[in-house]
Amino acid sequence: MQRKDFLKTVLLANAALATKPLAAMLSQFCEVDAMHSNDNVTYYKKTDAKYNDLRKGFNKRIDKFPQIIAVCKTTAGVAEAVNYAIANKLPVAVKSGGHCMEGFSCNNGGMVINLSELSSIEWTDDYTIKVGPGCKLANLYNELLPKQKIIPGGSCAGVAIGGLVVGGGYGLMSRLFGLTCDSLLDVTMVDGMGNIVTSVNNNDLLWACKGGGSGNFGIVTELKFKVHKAPKTMQSIRFKTRNATAQKAKEIFKVWFQETKQLPNHCFSACLLNGKTVYVLLTNTSKNTPAVQNFITKLSAISQTTTKTAAQPLATALKTYYGRQFPMNFKNASAGLYKSFDEIEPFIEEVLQKVINTPGMIYQVNTVGGYVQNADLEKQSSFPHRAFTYFSELQTYWETSLQSKKAMEKFEEIQQLFSSNNISVQYRNYPDINFKNSLQLYYGNNLPKLQAIKKLYDPNNVIRHEQSIL
Ligand SMILES: Cc1cc2nc3c(=O)[nH]c(=O)nc-3n(C[C@H](O)[C@H](O)[C@H](O)COP(=O)(O)OP(=O)(O)OC[C@H]3O[C@@H](n4cnc5c(N)ncnc54)[C@H](O)[C@@H]3O)c2cc1C
Repeated sequence: MQRKDFLKTVLLANAALATKPLAAMLSQFCEVDAMHSNDNVTYYKKTDAKYNDLRKGFNKRIDKFPQIIAVCKTTAGVAEAVNYAIANKLPVAVKSGGHCMEGFSCNNGGMVINLSELSSIEWTDDYTIKVGPGCKLANLYNELLPKQKIIPGGSCAGVAIGGLVVGGGYGLMSRLFGLTCDSLLDVTMVDGMGNIVTSVNNNDLLWACKGGGSGNFGIVTELKFKVHKAPKTMQSIRFKTRNATAQKAKEIFKVWFQETKQLPNHCFSACLLNGKTVYVLLTNTSKNTPAVQNFITKLSAISQTTTKTAAQPLATALKTYYGRQFPMNFKNASAGLYKSFDEIEPFIEEVLQKVINTPGMIYQVNTVGGYVQNADLEKQSSFPHRAFTYFSELQTYWETSLQSKKAMEKFEEIQQLFSSNNISVQYRNYPDINFKNSLQLYYGNNLPKLQAIKKLYDPNNVIRHEQSIL
């Protein structure tokens, strides 16, 4: 850093920190002086060799260029970086695992706080752990499952717990144990003024971080979780129908919606159309009850093939769903949360027809519900959509930039069908940059309280992205 830049930074820092305690001011001066690296944080600029790798996320479609990337090793390092950003008027984006589907964990010209090195797992007793937000789900499961414990997280190995939990988080175990955020006991967070705060004795902060905390008002640096006794095994049953017409696909979706209503909480199911093939997945972590058997009978009757795997140890079975670990070109977004098939019946055949006509397009509906609907969990979290028992998503993948334009156009056409048919509830962890009124769609009736929390912890809107709370 040149001397004139250094002086400018110090002056700005002075102005911004006029009301801060002396210790905070001193750490600010030290941090500016030793700009590139210290025990708490390393800063990368465009000229640094690692910058290019660090700025990228899982979605190759998104290409952003922050001014500074602060790789933080401690909570103090995050606070230091935020103070630096404030002093230099840089907006802050927060990155844990970089899987945000719209790249909200990166920005152009601002600071990215990278939490990938804050990824440790510490047992506090047999049923509680402290985890760094950068911990990837595969590492979390590798730690928990050998001890027959589990947190109900998502299925993709590379997603980090930080981004997953602050937006809600659901997966194969959610109907049994709740959303990922329902197991969250406490957080440590750096707010938009550079203060380190904790949710101990602060129920509102914990409430806000359970579903409403995605890069909105603070940077969560430590997460304390309750862990659950894991089921021992999981069985997967797959139903497949090739060369489906839109009418046939609609019939399968309709039966699937009907039959999933009876499934016990130890089952998860998904129904998806990929090209012309309809797939139904059923997972079961307990016995084959009559309700499960009935589901299998009904879905077998309308599908071409049914494949059952034997029940496998949970760790082995979960690995089947880890997904691709390296970045891809894709668009993936929420396509509505539903209570029943009735909400999509009038227009779903048109959606399915467009999916069939568009190679690489996938429409998928997943079961949630079960324990997620528990009334106490609802009160304790800002996740607003527990009444909706089905989460759907639209996905499209491509290899070359030539294919991307068409894929994106078709994607938007299909999304338009959902919005014009009044599908107006969306899952924040599957954001779409094109959603109008996105905050209302993601946060529903909890938006005003979340906006008040934003004002409290980040009054100057330092922590922000394209769809952050204002
Ligand atoms: C392949 C794939 C599979 C997925 N599977 C599932 C699934 O099974 N279930 C499910 O619920 N979701 C799933 N998701 C969505 C996933 O939950 C979100 O993309 C999640 O936000 C990713 O978290 P991350 O930390 O990896 O991403 P990041 O890109 O680092 O962050 C995502 C968002 O969270 C914010 N954020 C990240 N860390 C923090 C923090 N420490 N404090 C405050 N804000 C933070 C960011 O600002 C950003 O807005 C999947 C996504 C992908 C790409």
